[in-house]
Amino acid sequence: MGAARRLGVSPLVCKPSTVSPGLSAGIITQREFPIERTRHMSVDEDVRPESTGGRTPDAAEGSATGSQADGVSLYYEADPEDLVVPPDSDYVVRGVAAGGMVRAFAATTRRTVQAARDAHQSSPVVTAALGRLLTAGAIMGSMVKDDGELMTLTVRGDGPIGSLTVTADSHGHVKGYPGNADVWLPLNGSGKLDVGAAVGSGSLSVVQDVPWGEPYTSQIALATGEIGDDIAAYYAESEQVPSAVGLGVLVDTDLSVRQAGGFIVQLMPDCDEGTIERLEANLGDVRSVTEMLDDGMSPEEILGEVLRGLDFTPLRVSPTEFRCNCSRERTERVLITLGAKELQSLIDDGKPTEMVCNFCGSSYEFSVDELRALLAEATPRGARAGPDTPERA
Ligand SMILES: [Zn+2]
Repeated sequence: MGAARRLGVSPLVCKPSTVSPGLSAGIITQREFPIERTRHMSVDEDVRPESTGGRTPDAAEGSATGSQADGVSLYYEADPEDLVVPPDSDYVVRGVAAGGMVRAFAATTRRTVQAARDAHQSSPVVTAALGRLLTAGAIMGSMVKDDGELMTLTVRGDGPIGSLTVTADSHGHVKGYPGNADVWLPLNGSGKLDVGAAVGSGSLSVVQDVPWGEPYTSQIALATGEIGDDIAAYYAESEQVPSAVGLGVLVDTDLSVRQAGGFIVQLMPDCDEGTIERLEANLGDVRSVTEMLDDGMSPEEILGEVLRGLDFTPLRVSPTEFRCNCSRERTERVLITLGAKELQSLIDDGKPTEMVCNFCGSSYEFSVDELRALLAEATPRGARAGPDTPERA
């Protein structure tokens, strides 16, 4: 066997240990790409309170306190403990504006996206595409209320990347991988990395796995493939929440991630016209996320800019990082689920089998003897092959 084998929905690729998991780094070093300066705003006619309905986001979350005695103003105050920025860490900040009529999230994700770039040795346009989706995942994971809930964002397009998969949990752990990490395209008409062309047209699906109960699944057609627009479309179409989404990844000339981050700003159903007009005006002339980050602005300051004149109040800061939960034990389980026939064919190859995690690139090698032990587990009792297949301890 030669080609890498995809194991269904599992995040693992199976291949013989003779094949290096490394990608064609030689190609990457020959190229230099200019810094990306991209803006993704998606505020348009969708941003109307009339269009809200269905699932209603909870405006009075976080440390919101106060009373509605006067019918207008809510008073929000953060616990200072909740606003301590973790040192040397990516983080997501959340808050409210316009007296709770707007809820807002922003993140700085340079380390997270760099970790993804290190894991996948991705080309600049793939780093940008995956980085934008990872940033969205980090923010959306922070919106999840229940411990153990898992959010998976999958972009499937007809462009050369093929697909992007990102999984985020409520503890700030995100991970992701591209279908094809080695995509090289000319810059787009604005001189930027052409994420839209690399992704193409297709779909975005969002699956929320809850510990107890059925997963909540939603799928929309990609708006532009630029990711930010697609996340905004997801909120508008699937959640009926008008949202402005800005996501950006600045890839440096040495292919490292110089800046990454983004924001999601959402209108609550009671949002008034004046607030909407103000937000639209702000978004019309706000600089790109990466430009603001590159100027040293924090996510809080970015939201202050996006929500200028709307009295943005940060309520909570939470760290986020690229982290994969793969392990040798999980990999063994994946091998067992391959079934006895598949395991037997790996054993018959007579070589160690290497399993590589799609999400983080970690590799786990299994000797023929270890495969035999797994075969014993995969084989139903009573149908075992005899003394040649030892029982696992
Ligand atoms: Zn992994």
